[in-house]
Parts: sequence; C-alpha cells; structure tokens
Amino acid sequence: MLRMSGIHKRFGELEVLKGIDFSVVKGDVLAVIGPSGSGKSTMLRCINRLEEIDAGTIEIKGRVLAKNNSEGTAEYVSEAESREILACTGMVFQQFNLFPHMTVMQNLLEAPVQVKKRSAEEVRPEAEELLRKVGLFDKRDSYPGRLSGGQQQRVAIARALAMKPDIMLFDEPTSALDPELTGEVLKTMRELAAEHMTMVVVTHEMAFAREAANHVMFMADGVIVEQGIPAEFFAHPAQERTIAFLNNML
Ligand code: ATP
Ligand code: MG
Repeated sequence: MLRMSGIHKRFGELEVLKGIDFSVVKGDVLAVIGPSGSGKSTMLRCINRLEEIDAGTIEIKGRVLAKNNSEGTAEYVSEAESREILACTGMVFQQFNLFPHMTVMQNLLEAPVQVKKRSAEEVRPEAEELLRKVGLFDKRDSYPGRLSGGQQQRVAIARALAMKPDIMLFDEPTSALDPELTGEVLKTMRELAAEHMTMVVVTHEMAFAREAANHVMFMADGVIVEQGIPAEFFAHPAQERTIAFLNNML
C-alpha cells in the first residue's frame, strides 16, 4: 500500500529526516510515536507531498510518487500523475481544518463534487451515511463553529472518508482536544481500524497505539529508533531512547 525508503528531508541546514524506511500493507494500522521535533509530522506530510523529500523513494499502491535520479536526488512524477496517485490518501490534521463558512454537509460534499466532479445528489447519501457513522447526522446543517472540538474532528474524519481513500493519515488528531473529548475521536478511529482501513497515525495516545495499531514505530531525531508489534514493543523496548520516552509517557 505504501513504501517509503531512504527518505531524507531537510529544511535549510536542518536535516529533519535522516533515512527513513518503512512500509505499510493493506489493513495495517501504523502508530508513529516520538518526542516533539523528531520529524513525525514531516514524515507524514512527505507521504502526500505536503512536503517534498530531498532523497528516497515513495511508492503508493505500487505506483512511484518520487524516486532518486542518478545523482541521488528525489524526483517526483508529474503534477497530474501525483494528484492521481495521491487521490487514494486522506489526511486528518491536529487543527481539524474544516471550511468554517460551510455547513457540516457542505464540508463533506466539497471535495467529491469539486475534485471528483460528482454530483451533490449522488454524494449526499454517502455523506449522510458517513455522518451517521461518526454519530453526527443530526449536525449536518450546523456550521463547524457551533460544534465541539471532538465533533469537528469527527466531521474532519468523515470529510476525508468521503473521498473514499485507501489510506488515511492522521497527525495527532486528538492533541488539540480537551481530554474529555479525545475519547469520542479515538472511538471513531478504533472503529475505522476494526474495519481494516489502512492508517498511519502520529499520536501521543499510547493506549491507542497499544490496542488499535498492529505496528508501532518510534522516531527520534529524524530516524526510526525502534519498531515492532505493539505487545512486543511496549513490553520489551530494546533501545535506551525508547525506554526513556515510554517512561515519560506512561
Ligand atoms: P511534534 O510532536 O511537536 O508535532 P514532530 O515530530 O511532528 O513534532 P516535525 O513537525 O516534523 O516534528 O518537525 C521536525 C523538525 O523540523 C523540527 O525541528 C521543526 O522545527 C522543523 N520543521 C518542521 N517544519 C518546518 C518548516 N516548514 N520549515 C523549517 N523547519 C521545519
Ligand atoms: Mg508533529
């Protein structure tokens, strides 16, 4: 589904990703954890080209998005092909990023109608179904500003799902929420995981990583320090840095 290899990314003098390699197969739920500034968001944003890598290979559903040329510098496919490849990805951000001037329903219809050129009539029943799924059907005509943070984030998840992605990317979807609201968002994500949605989730929620993910990856200083299946990873972390991080978190 997704393969990242030899990924390097720098911002000016600062090398943020120093050779990242991992892959995700269909139905995987990968939890990415690590200290602030370790490059987790950058790594996630490189997957869907919100950031461009300097070196390495990115393959999504068997198609190359970027790969190294003979000089070892990453080259991307054309904009059109890139859009086509990335159409199967959906992303949910820390700060919801809903369109504030549109109702919940309009938020869900926007991309399928504007990007996929589908008719609103055709998409509406699907959007209603998604809103039921995240428990917000009765809020379909509300504006985001009238919803709680947890509700807004569930709308953001439904909006991403409205594009029928094959892989969902989450960047700390609950860390902007009050603690009492994180539960409802995590529940929605657990349900998605149970339905075998392929997910890459950057998170500080260790319980989610332990229980809902089937793979955990610990990043620090732009490298993957350690990874494994959650039961093994949390019970027997092998690296000093992982142990120190987990001691801090738990
Ligand atoms: P957090 O847990 O705080 O979200 P993170 O692991 O997601 O951290 P990143 O946001 O990927 O970390 O940032 C990694 C490093 O890259 C940081 O030192 C950050 O300051 C730097 N960085 C991120 N984005 C940019 C940018 N657009 N320009 C310059 N530096 C950046
Ligand atoms: Mg981040």
